[in-house]
Amino acid sequence: MQTYSHWIAGEFRAPESGEWIDTIDPYRGEVWARIPAGNVADANLAVAAAKRAMTTGPWSKLTASERGRIIGKIGDLLLTHVDRLAELEVRDNGKLMAEMRGQLKFASDYWRYYAGLADKIEGSVMPIEKPDMLGFTLREPVGVVLAITAWNSPLNFFALKCAPALAAGCAVVLKPSEFSSVSSLEFAALTKEAGLPDGVINVISGYGGDVGPALVEHPDVAQITFTGSDVTGTRIYEAAARHMKRVAMELGGKSPNIVFEDADLDAAIGGAISGIFGAAGQMCTAGSRLLVQNSIKQEFTQRLLEATRSIKMGDPMDAATQMGPLSTTPQYNKVLEYIDVARAEGARLIHGGKPAEGPGIQGGHFIEPTIFTDVSNNMRIAQEEVFGPILSLIGFEDEAEAIALGNQIAYGLAAGVWTRDIGRMVRVSKALHAGTVWGNTYRTYSYMMPVGGMKRSGIGREYGIEAINEFLETKSIMISTAATPPRNNFVPR
Ligand code: NAD
Repeated sequence: MQTYSHWIAGEFRAPESGEWIDTIDPYRGEVWARIPAGNVADANLAVAAAKRAMTTGPWSKLTASERGRIIGKIGDLLLTHVDRLAELEVRDNGKLMAEMRGQLKFASDYWRYYAGLADKIEGSVMPIEKPDMLGFTLREPVGVVLAITAWNSPLNFFALKCAPALAAGCAVVLKPSEFSSVSSLEFAALTKEAGLPDGVINVISGYGGDVGPALVEHPDVAQITFTGSDVTGTRIYEAAARHMKRVAMELGGKSPNIVFEDADLDAAIGGAISGIFGAAGQMCTAGSRLLVQNSIKQEFTQRLLEATRSIKMGDPMDAATQMGPLSTTPQYNKVLEYIDVARAEGARLIHGGKPAEGPGIQGGHFIEPTIFTDVSNNMRIAQEEVFGPILSLIGFEDEAEAIALGNQIAYGLAAGVWTRDIGRMVRVSKALHAGTVWGNTYRTYSYMMPVGGMKRSGIGREYGIEAINEFLETKSIMISTAATPPRNNFVPR
């Protein structure tokens, strides 16, 4: 069993508390590594290292192009080590090896994309209306960034937070989830190999409730970028407000996946399945509310059931496995509770509904792919995020009802629309309150397309050029160019 340490100021460092957290392999149900239980002292060390890096360290003196070259090398090194790092992630979160490998290749591209953007962050010169006056803007790094992330995609989140922050010239303290910190702690050392100066990225692990508030409330943290539940996000937002810190929030969802009668049904079934049973439903963007037009609901349900019956559960390292275990014990228990809630509310179970059994899945947190029908949109099972393989099937009559049901939710992260009618596709996409709408596809990402939530799903955007804005301040500079500068008086010019 391996023991990991914090990564602070360019070196591994044991926790000040001398205490460790066991990290569990969700497939085998066994402890496989130990990570530091961070506390206030660790938080202070990490923030101090980031502040030094930004103020007096070599990072603050690099040109934007030099920063970009280092960020690009981090992406290259991630790709070189993709198999090893993906394996660490699978052991920590139980997701499929094939998915984690793909995700890390994506993360490598993500680093390279922001490498290219580092020296394209430009201010403007304004043609201001005042004579003998030059007015221009500078775009400056916001300061020390705190990144706190969820357990489902650790190194992807590492890239989503750190690549644009570094491109903007910031230094970062990253606190990954206590359930899956190993890959981030190991990868942090590779950033040094890429030439990143000490203290620009610091990674500390620990329970959110122990180390989180110390980081969030630290006076030298300027910006908090968070990925996790809306409950924790609200807590952090409130604390940040007390200190007037900036926040970016990537939170939960309860996304509608809407199938119209004219859709390519084979494709829509594939999208429905991958939208809720991919990653065992542990996706913020899970298409957990499947809205199907009443005219095709019966046929669609039959075909969906057939496809669901063939899902192969098993060892996430096995290339043939389609669905792995739930990542954590609390998550496993929460999903089982929601199955009871749905039953009690009168939803009709038509597939799954209990822990999965069978050869190759003993000891893990497996739950059968579960489908409820006769769900009404105001039931808890249709309104609350489960973050597991539980699908709610809801019928609708026409386009207007589909849009109304789609939007009748506190969240606004993603949505899917399946139709061959291009006009309808555009109308419905525009009408849905969601940060991302997928048309005739689901779970498709490009590092160039902004991702983020409306309503309770979050604040701000990751991916694409927009993500850089989260880490920049705009400074306005106005300089008199007059040979004899005007003498000030008591009326603004
Ligand atoms: P969580 O909110 O329980 O924890 C997220 C992080 O917050 C962890 O690192 C945790 O240690 C930390 N934390 C907990 N309490 C804290 C506190 N008081 N102060 C500071 N930090 C604290 O979320 P989770 O269970 O790890 O992840 C699942 C959630 O994340 C789901 O709601 C899912 O939708 C969401 N998510 C969103 C996105 C997105 O991009 N929108 C992506 C993945 C996951």
